[in-house]
Amino acid sequence: MSRTSNVTKADYYEILGVSRSASEQELKAAYRKLAMKYHPDRNPGNKEAEEKFKECSEAYQVLSDPQKRAAYDRYGHAGVSGAAASNGDPFAGMPDLGDIFGDFFGEVFNMGGGGRRASRAQRGRDVRVDLTIEFEDAVFGKETQVTVRRMEACESCHGTGTADGRGPSVCPQCQGRGQVRFQQGFFSIARTCSACSGSGTVISDPCRTCRGDGRVERQRTIQVTVPAGVEEGTRIRYQGEGDAGRYGGPSGDLYILLSVKPHAFFERDGNDLHCVVPVSFPQAALGDEISIPTLEGDTVLRIPEGTQSGQEFRIRGKGIPYLNEHGRGDLIVQVVVQTPKKLTKVQKELLRQLSESLTVENKPTSRSLFSKVKEMFS
Ligand SMILES: [Zn+2]
Ligand SMILES: [Zn+2]
Repeated sequence: MSRTSNVTKADYYEILGVSRSASEQELKAAYRKLAMKYHPDRNPGNKEAEEKFKECSEAYQVLSDPQKRAAYDRYGHAGVSGAAASNGDPFAGMPDLGDIFGDFFGEVFNMGGGGRRASRAQRGRDVRVDLTIEFEDAVFGKETQVTVRRMEACESCHGTGTADGRGPSVCPQCQGRGQVRFQQGFFSIARTCSACSGSGTVISDPCRTCRGDGRVERQRTIQVTVPAGVEEGTRIRYQGEGDAGRYGGPSGDLYILLSVKPHAFFERDGNDLHCVVPVSFPQAALGDEISIPTLEGDTVLRIPEGTQSGQEFRIRGKGIPYLNEHGRGDLIVQVVVQTPKKLTKVQKELLRQLSESLTVENKPTSRSLFSKVKEMFS
């Protein structure tokens, strides 16, 4: 219930919840309790609390002063009119009783010297660089370089941002606390210092090279070690190689985002490699030793008699190394039987003879198909 109108002002004793014969100690205790509850620092943006705070402060201002209290007791609000201006600022016209609760409120609201001081130090931003590498480089790793544009500490001022290189000086407005204390009433109201935005320091003579930022943009070549086994989208992090921090803050990190070019022959599936190798019909039928390309030169694969088109063979340990681990994936070779083309008369005659000689026993797929059909009708 807040009655703020000057016409129907609430009774000061009622506001503080004390009797008309309350002692100075009782008044103080009652006020302390209410002020604690409605203090703007505890109720940010709460208009009602602000109003209550103003109300009880005004009441205490009057009642704690023996002369004003006497006048109020005799004439009511009229006796003390003008004692408390109640316009916009909740702290206007506050009792000027000195900082009698200073320590008390300092503890509660953490307004002690520099308690809420904002730090000027800022961490530098992370920097990302995209790097495209060859397929083989992803498999075996690579030493390479990237060009990075990043913010580095300004050489002219050694990162201090000030022309004399000594760094920002203590803010004269707040003496470095970052806050300004309003000693109105017996409250210490702390507000962020506008001169330094709460950092407690100011740069009066900024460095001309970096205009006070303490940093300048530089292009750098960074040595990058791509480990074996990386893949598309792998991120390599270089701690502290990003933008320099400001005013003593730590540097950001550098992230190398990898993109891997596809390979003409191999396809990757996790740590396994896949490839397709054509074989002739006689090779597949009779079995053979065929030459298989790997990422480390050719190797020999034995395909058995009766190899079917599409059949896969696994060559262990010829795949991609596990990232940061021992061991490698496999190379999976898919054999595709090629149908011969542009046959000569003689070749055609041989195939015809072969065809005539083939029985169901020679045709694994037909055989299984026949047996399935038989099963259906049995
Ligand atoms: Zn300041
Ligand atoms: Zn500079």
